[in-house]
Amino acid sequence: MATNGQALPVDLAMRILVVEDEPKVAAFLKQGLEESGHEVLSASDGNSGRRLAKEKGVDLVLLDVILPGLNGVDTCRAIRHDGGNMPILMLTALGTTDDKVAGLDAGADDYLVKPFEFQELLARIRSLSRRGHAATESNGTLAYGNLELNLMKKEATRDGQRILLTAKEFALLEFFLRNPERVLSRALISERVWDIDFNTGTNVVEAYIKLLRKKVDRDFEPKLIHNRVGLGYILTDRP
Ligand code: CA
Repeated sequence: MATNGQALPVDLAMRILVVEDEPKVAAFLKQGLEESGHEVLSASDGNSGRRLAKEKGVDLVLLDVILPGLNGVDTCRAIRHDGGNMPILMLTALGTTDDKVAGLDAGADDYLVKPFEFQELLARIRSLSRRGHAATESNGTLAYGNLELNLMKKEATRDGQRILLTAKEFALLEFFLRNPERVLSRALISERVWDIDFNTGTNVVEAYIKLLRKKVDRDFEPKLIHNRVGLGYILTDRP
């Protein structure tokens, strides 16, 4: 299994946690990622993966879905529960829509179906590492394109024009800006923004998205809040 590892520019070198129970696959991933300039931490089960994600300042997690003990989807949920907000890329041998939705619901950013080309994995990692920089936080301000949220003053502006938002609308928009260019399921949004569960929360989420679009997107270009049918919503200027 040649990795064809192409050295990445140093500024993209990351500390990557690989959670994978099959020794051969784990070794292959570690070797390829190290040849590409990344530092690799390894875990062979979900619980130790969760612990390393919490304690080791990890930049990105590669998470196998089928693991002994805590499975990959539950591990992903646990890492998010612990406050980990690094990109998480799920590795699955199954690749059905159900697994994709389960992974995204649990807070994963993307998934890759095994077997995959190593170059494809590197491309996904590169894309996820860029994503982390799409919204920048400086002086208490989150920004994406011409949309800005001042977290101190609780003020939103687009193109310099003030947008009046309710507290809940502001919280929802802040959640989008903290997770730019990432599909957010209704379940995840209702859990994080409303602290209520999927079954009671989805209509509320839809109603608030509608209100938010009217204020944030109707009179401005490009449109930023988009629907991904069957999956959820995404903040992006590239629909
Ligand atoms: Ca496995």
